[in-house]
Amino acid sequence: MYYLNEVEQKYLTLNLRPHIRENPVPEELRGWNWHYPPLKPYYDIKLPMYLICSRYCETSRDVYLSKVERIEGKENYFIRAGKITHYAVSSAINEAKKLNFRERLNSKESYGGEFELAKLAWEYTMTSCRANYLKHRAEQEYASEEDVILTSIPFLVEHRMDGSLLGCSGLISVDCFDYLHNIIFDLKVSNPRDLRLYTTGYALILESLYEIPVDLGCTVFVREKNGKIIVSRDLHFIDANLRSLWIEERDRKSGLVYDERDPGKARNCNPYCIFRNYCL
Ligand code: SF4
Repeated sequence: MYYLNEVEQKYLTLNLRPHIRENPVPEELRGWNWHYPPLKPYYDIKLPMYLICSRYCETSRDVYLSKVERIEGKENYFIRAGKITHYAVSSAINEAKKLNFRERLNSKESYGGEFELAKLAWEYTMTSCRANYLKHRAEQEYASEEDVILTSIPFLVEHRMDGSLLGCSGLISVDCFDYLHNIIFDLKVSNPRDLRLYTTGYALILESLYEIPVDLGCTVFVREKNGKIIVSRDLHFIDANLRSLWIEERDRKSGLVYDERDPGKARNCNPYCIFRNYCL
């Protein structure tokens, strides 16, 4: 799931990395400067990452309903499919790191059609981890087993981080951090679209905690079509514009919570919004 294909590798080395070297991120937009403006949170309000980054409600009423009215949305197919697919991918990687390539996806929770996508995601992830592990093992004659595993499956999955320095609530769980190539991955069960704010938020938090620069993000989109898994990736530079936009969204939405202001209903509600039962 998190291995780049040949074209993406070329784009990364010949285009993206040189571009990043020529256009470095301004120092004030690095996460480790969380205690200075503009990164310093304007309000003493903590918001979960999904509320800062999701922009499906054009008035941001979802933020108001969730944090001021304390209303819980109604789970839909995409939420359930997202949960079980994230579980499938992260547990496949963790099992692969233990060289348990024969394990099967188990789930204690009962799921419907969304379980099919999770099974496909599990097989896809497990197969690519195994292929990569075997390739590295064949090529690294003198490496220890641990060395081969750590370099062939270089993924820290579902890593828990404290986002409070940047005004985020609770423990933030990042889908995957490729520590060899320094790329943040975010997994989405949807068609490809612009969702780069999530990787931006995760990169800022990593920078605030570990004080290392994280310039690259990749949103991975998975879906099922005719019994097959379809995967596409949006590999991108977490540049100054994205960082500024993330800060703007955080401050705008936390201001809305601070003022307890209902921004009103959207004119065009998202058909998959979890608050539809409440608003409409
Ligand atoms: S139902 Fe419409 S107005 Fe309400 S939160 Fe969702 S998108 Fe916004």
